[in-house]
Parts: sequence; structure tokens; C-alpha cells
Amino acid sequence: ALDKEQMQGLRGIREFLKVRTSYDVLPLSFRLVVLDNNLLIKKSLNILIQNGIVSAPLWDSQKSAFAGLLTSTDYINVIQYYCQFPDEIDQVDQFRLSSLRDIERAIGVLPLETVSVHPMRPLYEACRRMLKTRARRIPLVDYDDETGHEMVVSVITQYRILKFIAVNNEKYTMLLKKTVKEIGLGTYSNLATATMNNSVLDVIHLMVKHNISAVPVVDRDNKVLNVFEAVDVIPCIKGGAYDELSASVGEALCRRAEDFPGIYTCSEDDRLDAIFETIRKSRVHRLIVVDDESRLRGIISLSDILKYVLLFGEEEDDIRGS
Ligand code: ATP
Repeated sequence: ALDKEQMQGLRGIREFLKVRTSYDVLPLSFRLVVLDNNLLIKKSLNILIQNGIVSAPLWDSQKSAFAGLLTSTDYINVIQYYCQFPDEIDQVDQFRLSSLRDIERAIGVLPLETVSVHPMRPLYEACRRMLKTRARRIPLVDYDDETGHEMVVSVITQYRILKFIAVNNEKYTMLLKKTVKEIGLGTYSNLATATMNNSVLDVIHLMVKHNISAVPVVDRDNKVLNVFEAVDVIPCIKGGAYDELSASVGEALCRRAEDFPGIYTCSEDDRLDAIFETIRKSRVHRLIVVDDESRLRGIISLSDILKYVLLFGEEEDDIRGS
């Protein structure tokens, strides 16, 4: 019966995502900071920090066109470039946002696929594309009929989608009574972790190596103290202070904004309905799974949740392929 209810809940949510559009996810009024591609990378850091954001669409004003999405991955790429070519620090200082693609090439990383969706397409489509491409945020790009130019309307994130589901589908999310353990939600082996004494640079290399954007910070007994996130890199390199990356994780975490909401934990016996409850109430970026003594057990990323909600019980190939 639990299985049946669970599937009923999942199907309800999937139907909902098919009849709603990305546009529906947007709040009635919102602000969007778009950065000119010609801006110095160094200056972009300050703008993000001042606006309390961690990502922004880029605009090519010569072509009047959308030019991709700036995220913490781009700054991590700049740091890797700096590590590979330490003599070029003066040049690094002069890089503009438009140089980000050259930086990717120089350090040999594949550019993240820039997917965008039209705001009036079904939300389900945006979700599927997120899972397929590992894109964590998708810009909504529309066309201005008068000028024929592209127009960035907003950016939707995994959190916004999950929150939209949580707020509007209580009747379905309450059917999701299986526990994290029962549905195998999240990752429980080969966890990448750090200690307070590791350097920020160590953790950045770890994130690059594992292709992840957060590393739990644990003590000697594997108790969870904090989480270092890719976005925590931004205040570290403010003003082009790349040499400060040798500072410890502990020091770096002190640079977090005053209003940092904290990290969220759960237990393996928590049910998915409770997780949706947390998402409904708080700005969760991921859940750290701990035991009764706060020791690290696993990590549930938002993509793990989205993947389960969209794909569980669909064709097996889809799950593996995405
Ligand atoms: P976000 O979705 O916020 O960018 P992320 O990059 O940490 O977070 P994903 O890219 O969704 O998360 O994670 C990919 C997979 O890696 C997920 O299945 C997740 O459970 C797992 N994962 C996340 N963090 C770690 C970690 N520190 N160690 C091992 N696996 C992790």
C-alpha cells in the first residue's frame, strides 16, 4: 500500500509539472541582475556579493544577445587557471567575463552546456533538461517581438522548482511516506569530506575532481561541523585575492554573509514528505544525512531529489542515462 501511495504521489507531481510552465514558477515581482560580458571578472565578484547573489546571466551588448550564465563554476575555473599559470596573475586580473570560454579551453575543461528554455514551455521539460545536462540553473530566454532580440526573463533553479512543487502539491507530497533509506535517496559511499584545517584550495580541487559543489566539513569523529559550498569561494577571492586560497576552510567559512541560513541535516529514517516540508519552509541547497550522534552518513543533493521525483519507476534506461 505504501508503494502504491508513493507512486500515486509521484504521478501527481509529474502531471502537475506537465501542466505548469517555467513562467509559473516565477514570483509576481522579482529582480534580475544581468552582467555585461565586457565586465572585468574581478568586478563581477563585487557585484554578486553586493547583490547577495551567486550567479547571473551574461549579456553580449555588441550582439544584443544572451551570452551564458555566470556561476561559481566559472570562478573555480579561474582559480584552476591561476594554479596552472601562476606567473600570469597580472593577466588574470585583466580577464573579462567574455574570456571565461578561453579560460575553460586553457585549463582543458569542457564548457558547461548552456541550456535555456522558453518560459512558456512545460516545467517538466525544464526539469528533464536539468537532469540530462547537469545544469543546476536554467535561464528562461524569450524573444522580444519588436526588436527580434533575445531577452532573459529570469533563471530557474532546482531549489525554485522543488519549492514550487512543495508549496503547490501538498496533497501529493504527503503521500510520499517512504524513508530516505527505503528509496535509497542520496549518496552514501565515497563521500568527499574536508576538515576545518584543510585549505580552501584543497577543497576546490576535491570539488573539481568529484564534480560536486559541496563538501561536508567533519571533525576527527566524522561529526558534521559545516558544509563548504562552491559559492563560498566567491567571498574568498573578492578583489582578486587568489593567494588567500591557502587559508583554511575554517577561516573561509567565517566570511559567509550575516544572513547565511545554515545547513540542513536529516536522518536516513526521515520520510520524503518531511523533506518536502523542509523545502517548503527553508532555502535548502542540500541535506546532509547524519546518524543520532551527528556523524556523517550521506548527502542528498537537490538533483537527487529531482531525479527521484521525475524518474523513479519510469524506464530504467532513463534513470541511468540522465
Ligand atoms: P548542486 O546540485 O547543488 O550543484 P552537487 O553538485 O553537490 O550540488 P549534484 O551535482 O547534484 O550535487 O551531485 C551529484 C551527485 O554527487 C549526487 O548524487 C550527490 O548525492 C553526490 N554528492 C554530492 N556531494 C557529494 C560529496 N561531498 N561526496 C560524494 N558525493 C557527493
